[in-house]
Amino acid sequence: MASPTPLGLRRAVGLADFTTWKVGGPAQWFAEPDSGERLCALLSWARAEGLGSRVIGAGSNLLVSDAGLEGLILCNRRLQGADLDCSNGVIEAQAGEPIPTLARRAARAGLAGLEWSVGIPGTVGGAVVMNAGAQGGCTADVLESITVVDPNQPERPFRLQASELDFAYRHSRLQQEPLVVLSARFRLNPDQDPTEVSRRTSANLHSRTSSQPYQQPSCGSVFRNPEPHKAGQLIEGLGLKGLTIGGAQVSPIHANFIVNTGAASATEIDQLIATVQERVQAAHGITLHPEVKRLGPFGPIALAA
Ligand SMILES: Cc1cc2nc3c(=O)[nH]c(=O)nc-3n(C[C@H](O)[C@H](O)[C@H](O)COP(=O)(O)OP(=O)(O)OC[C@H]3O[C@@H](n4cnc5c(N)ncnc54)[C@H](O)[C@@H]3O)c2cc1C
Repeated sequence: MASPTPLGLRRAVGLADFTTWKVGGPAQWFAEPDSGERLCALLSWARAEGLGSRVIGAGSNLLVSDAGLEGLILCNRRLQGADLDCSNGVIEAQAGEPIPTLARRAARAGLAGLEWSVGIPGTVGGAVVMNAGAQGGCTADVLESITVVDPNQPERPFRLQASELDFAYRHSRLQQEPLVVLSARFRLNPDQDPTEVSRRTSANLHSRTSSQPYQQPSCGSVFRNPEPHKAGQLIEGLGLKGLTIGGAQVSPIHANFIVNTGAASATEIDQLIATVQERVQAAHGITLHPEVKRLGPFGPIALAA
């Protein structure tokens, strides 16, 4: 086996420290590349070793199994940085740049268009893959193009236009294809009043932190909204706020959040997801589909994401 040291590879790293739910077993191999070149080199290493690989961002939309994950897990949180061109509103951001940091920087520079995103604790790469959105805005609205790499050809990054990504509600084609996002180019509205853009950005953050359980580990909204219904309203209407399995609890503050009250396991969260799905199905005949991505082996209880 090739020597892992120069690439910063580590074995059996617990993933609970890399997910916002604070659950998840060990990655067989793990690394945190701080450049696109290093990330591609790690993908090449995994390929040469015959290992599967997966890139994660802030882990804010992930339920990682207690059994952990096989192969190489690459966490992008060190792949940060963004160049802002205030003359034309173009931002080129690295995949690991935190979205809230980018939103605040853009606002201070008088670039409008990312105000909705300030309360989403993910990275640029995760936001593109998930088409993250809030307050009536979403990633697809402001994305121009991305640079990606295919793990099977890590030496050849290439560019995709936003129009090629099949964006829909919390969906992009990247959820089905194993392409890795290295960077993203956004186009915002230049020449706006920085004070006003910053005010709107702060107001968005305030409205969220006052209505959602930001102090406890969670993954944000667990279920997609089954249009025309709101998942949170269906769950709350059945009196499920506060429902608890082990350390996992349907948030008493926002019914579409499941919080880790301290010592939850991924299995307990998974079981609570399944229980909520069963109750809503039985009462309304509506199937709630998880927005969160379940990674690794889980028991047979939960419905497929
Ligand atoms: C408190 C809280 C509030 C939230 N509010 C919102 C909200 O309002 N709106 C919303 O849409 N979401 C919300 N979320 C969910 C989450 O923050 C978003 O889905 C976010 O976009 C995920 O980004 P991430 O970097 O954490 O991705 P991760 O959770 O790490 O990964 C998500 C998926 O993207 C893949 N991925 C990540 N980075 C890359 C990359 N560079 N290349 C290829 N694949 C990649 C992963 O493999 C995984 O499949 C919230 C979460 C929390 C905890």
